[in-house]
Order: sequence, then structure tokens, then C-alpha cells
Amino acid sequence: MNAVEEPLLRIRGLRKSFGAHTVLHGIDLDVPRGGVTVLLGPSGSGKSTLLRCINRLEKPDAGYVALGEEIIGYRPGPAAGGRVRVLRELREREITRQRARIGMVFQQFNLFPHLTVLENLIEAPVALRQASKSQAAATARELLERVGLAGRESAYPKQLSGGQQQRVAIARALALKPELLLFDEPTSALDPELVGEVLRVIRDLAGGGMSMIVVTHEIGFAREVADTVVFLDGGRVLESGRPEDVLGGATHERTRAFLEAVL
Ligand code: ADP
Ligand code: MG
Repeated sequence: MNAVEEPLLRIRGLRKSFGAHTVLHGIDLDVPRGGVTVLLGPSGSGKSTLLRCINRLEKPDAGYVALGEEIIGYRPGPAAGGRVRVLRELREREITRQRARIGMVFQQFNLFPHLTVLENLIEAPVALRQASKSQAAATARELLERVGLAGRESAYPKQLSGGQQQRVAIARALALKPELLLFDEPTSALDPELVGEVLRVIRDLAGGGMSMIVVTHEIGFAREVADTVVFLDGGRVLESGRPEDVLGGATHERTRAFLEAVL
């Protein structure tokens, strides 16, 4: 192995505004392969916008997100002046292919209500021609078993509890075999007694070496599972480090105030 391993995800100088409101003020962040990065921060600090920029649900105004060897949304054009490579914007179809390398799980599950659990899981792999319908169904059944929902494949989302729906949403994200998974407050919409079953699935995935960024207010989970904790405030990375450092001895007053509020 190389002495310095390349990060899976590299974010450099990422800026995003909505109208006159700048939400991300130049984010720099590395996410290692096989690691869990927990993203903390007050409401409105830009956490969701950052995740949405990573998988190109939002287009950054400046800076870039690179996943492995690819820059999301661009490819290097011909070298200009022998050195600097000009970036060319990708077509939407190519961005869709890149986006499939990054799975996303939302607070509100976002399952297709008119499709069964199994249909929810096979829709994207088939539409993106990653798999035939029967291959996708076989993978879907394995994934449902992995999230503890074997046998529920014919159910419709509304027939399931919130925790079960979120586990289906995780299985659906995994169905595209992503290299990175993004979780945006995956347990915030759940009744307290259902939080544990969803965190358990995320913890198992982490144990299996899945690379992920998790936005959550579950500090216990962050302490136990995160390799890196990043604290975002007002669209800037205020602190970043090992959980025991950021959660234990937060040096920044804003981070301390936030932790006192959520603990
Ligand atoms: P967080 O997830 O940390 O709560 P968000 O990324 O959702 O924060 O939002 C950060 C700021 O950006 C908020 O002030 C929010 O109102 C604003 N914002 C987010 N999305 C949009 C949008 N599509 N249009 C306008 N403003 C937005
Ligand atoms: Mg959010």
C-alpha cells in the first residue's frame, strides 16, 4: 500500500449560493476510502446542500468534488498551454452515470409509494442498465435480507413502519453498488424506538468497509462509528478530526455550544 493513500472523495473550494445567500463558503474536505465521516452542524449550516453538491443534485458555483479519478460533472479537456487542463462539462446522461457511484439516503426515505419494496430496489439498476430484471431482483433479495427485511418484498411502503421504510431506502441505495453512501439525517423522521434498527444497519455497513458520510445528530453513534467528525457552521468547516477530539475537546466555541444543545 502507498504510504499516503488517495482519499475516495476530494472536495476543494466548494461554493454554493442560492440567490444572494451564500450557503457554502469554500469547503475543503477529504473522505477516505472505507471510512465513516460524520457531518455535524446546526440547522441551516449547509449540511444537506453539501451532500446534494457531492452527488450533483445541486450544481456547485465554484470548486469541485472528485470521486476517485473522476470530477463530478466534468471531465478534463485538452491540456492548455501544455500544463493546465481545462474542464469540460459533462452531459446529463454522463452525470447520471457518475451519480450512480454515490448512493443517497434521505430523512424522508423517498421511496416510490406506488411500487412494492422489490420494485423500488430493482427500478434504478434496470433503468441504468446495470442489471437485467432477474439479476436485479436476485440482488434486491440479498440486500433485503441484509437489512433484516427478507420476506417483505411484496409490501408497499405505506404498509411498513418508518424504520422498515428507511431500511428499504438503504437497500435501494445499495442496489446500485455505490462506492460512497450519503446519509442525510436518516433517523430524524423516526419515532425514537425505531432509531436503533436503522443505526444498526448503518453500523453494519460501516463494519463491512462501506465508505460513507452521515449527517446526524446522534452523537453516540458518531462517537462509536465515525472515523472523522466534521463540524459545519455557516457554510464553513469549523472543526474536523477524530471523534474523541471533536466531540470531547471541541476547541471551537460554536462546536461546544452545538454539542451542549444536542446532547
Ligand atoms: P442544513 O442541512 O445544515 O440544515 P441546508 O443545506 O438545508 O442546511 O440549508 C442551508 C441554507 O441554504 C438554509 O438557509 C436554506 O434555507 C438554504 N437553502 C437550501 N436549499 C435551498 C434552495 N434550493 N433554495 C434556496 N435556499 C436554499
Ligand atoms: Mg439538512
